[in-house]
Parts: sequence; structure tokens; C-alpha cells
Amino acid sequence: MAERGNRLLSGLDRLWFSGAGAALRSAAHQTADLVAPTWCVGCRASGTDLCGDCHHDLRLLMRRPFRAEGGAQALPVLEADRTGVDVLPVISAARYRTLVADVVVAFKDHERVRLSRVLAPALAGAVCAAAGAVLPRPEALLIWPPASPRARLRRGRSPLQELLGEAETGQVLPAGITPAGHLLRHTGSVLEALPGRSGQKGRSKVLRRKAMSQFGLAPGSQPRLQGADVLLVDDVLTTGATLHGLYGLLAAAGAAVHGAAVLAAAPQAEPIWGVTSAQRRIEDRDFRNRR
Ligand SMILES: [Zn+2]
Repeated sequence: MAERGNRLLSGLDRLWFSGAGAALRSAAHQTADLVAPTWCVGCRASGTDLCGDCHHDLRLLMRRPFRAEGGAQALPVLEADRTGVDVLPVISAARYRTLVADVVVAFKDHERVRLSRVLAPALAGAVCAAAGAVLPRPEALLIWPPASPRARLRRGRSPLQELLGEAETGQVLPAGITPAGHLLRHTGSVLEALPGRSGQKGRSKVLRRKAMSQFGLAPGSQPRLQGADVLLVDDVLTTGATLHGLYGLLAAAGAAVHGAAVLAAAPQAEPIWGVTSAQRRIEDRDFRNRR
């Protein structure tokens, strides 16, 4: 039974990611645009994914990467003594709320793929800041969580990989940083992608941690990781459980994981370096506009 399910899923997977599948998705997306024209994710102005004003605001909100590990309780502990506990440092481009949250969700889950033009440079900015803050030398591997079969089937794309690909093409990643997501794979059963199975959102924190064991090394990647310096990257930081899972796997493989960069940090991961008054003004205005 499991094998039949696997075959069915791998067939669907091939179809979805094939040239014909991509053409079909693109056509469907364009048709949807005709029926329901695009509007600004920030202010609902028609005819654009993100109007000039909202683009400007978003850039302000994402221009100052900050240390965000303070409130993420599931991050790995690097050191503990009488003076306190050091967890894995995480540098975030922005806080995950208001306009930032709307744009990230629209890009990830609502096919607003063109928003990568603002999100890719912001993510690259966080990677640059993290590299400067935590890496002992410029050369390091950049590694991110492999998408689950369920997420791949649902989205038909890998948003985080798209952003990193665009950052790499635009040459905005720091020199010496090598994207190496291919060294890991998701080992979860493809049967979890079948409808009716509960997703990660509905799981308790304990189960979510358990799910982290679904990351594994890709065949032949051990020698590449042994002794390598690694910087992790993810889209949104919430509890830090995903980064913890990656950290454990990579450390066991002999890599030195120095920290992580994320696009946005959820509210419980409050900034350590403070908030600028410009950020506060924009967020207060957004809040007023939405009431
Ligand atoms: Zn707008």
C-alpha cells in the first residue's frame, strides 16, 4: 500500500514539476490575473503587486537586520554558564508583522512570485549581516531546510530557494558564501502529502520537534560537510525548532554551524538591538489603516 502511494506521489510530483505542469500553472495564474486583477499587497491599490509607497515602506522595514534570537525558545544552546545562556545567533531582516507579514505570505502562499524583487535583496541583507557578525572567516556554506513533500505538492515551488537563487544571480550574497541546500534532503514519507493528513501548523511543539528528524543528509554530502563552516538561512523564525533540527543534523555531520539569517522574525522573537523610530511610525500607521 505504502509503495503504491509512493509511486502515485512520485508520479504526481514529476508531473507537477515538469515543463507541462509549469506551463499549466503559469497559464492558470495569468487567467486568474485577468479575472481578478492584481492589487497591492499593502494598500490594495489595483494593477500592481506592491505600489511605490508600500515598496518604499517595506524597504524601510527591512533595511536594518537585527539580532532576533532573544525570544525563540527552541534554538540550540551553544554555551551555558553562571552568567547566562548563549543560543544560536539569528539575524533577521525584519519583524514578521503588518506589511512584512502580508508580503511574505503573499509571496509564499499566494503565488505573488514577483515580490521576490523586494524579498530577495532583504534576505541577502540578513545573510550579509549574519556573515559579518558570526562567521570566523568569509568562506561558508549556506544551508536551508529542505521543503517537505507536502509543501512541494501544495505550492509546486520552493519559495525560499527562489529567493536565494535570485540573490545569487543578482550577486548580492557575500563573496565566500556558497549556497548548498542540495546537501540535505527531506526524509519525510511522501504519504504525509496526501490530503487529510494534518500539517505542521496543527501540531504541538513536541510533535514539531519530532518532525525535525525528517531532515537528512543527501547521499555523498558527509565529506563536504565535515569541518565546513555553515550559516543557516530560513524565511520566518518562530520558535527556532526548524533551525535546531538543522543544527543538530549538521553538527553530527562534523560541520560548525555559527548562526542563521532569516527574512522575518515572529513577534515572540523580539529584537535585541532595538527598533528604529521610522519602523515604529510605519507600523503604527499600518495598524491605524487596517482598523
Ligand atoms: Zn500599496
